[in-house]
Amino acid sequence: MTSHHKHPTYVRNARIIRTATNQRLKSGIAVQCIGCGGPITPEQRFDVGHRIDASRGGSHDLDNLGPQHRRENRSAGGRIGALHTNAQSRRARGLPTW
Ligand SMILES: [Zn+2]
Repeated sequence: MTSHHKHPTYVRNARIIRTATNQRLKSGIAVQCIGCGGPITPEQRFDVGHRIDASRGGSHDLDNLGPQHRRENRSAGGRIGALHTNAQSRRARGLPTW
C-alpha cells in the first residue's frame, strides 16, 4: 500500500468502483481487468488499480481507475504470494510447478 492509496479522491472513487464491481459479479456480469484485460470472476480477488499509474502522472479520477486482479496489483510481497498460489493450483491439477 503506497501513500497515494490514502488520497481522498482515490479512496472515494475506489469505493465506488469496488461496489459497482461487486454488484456486477453478483449479477453474473463479466468484469474486465484493467491490468491483463482478462475477466475477473467472482472467486478471484481484485483491487482497484490505476490504468496509468499515479507515479506516471495518472489521476485518481474514475476514468483512470478500474478493477484489477489482486495478484497483479501488489508489490513484491504480493507477487511472491501469487507465485505460491499459482504453484499450488498447478500442483493440484497435476501440472509442473515451475
Ligand atoms: Zn488481470
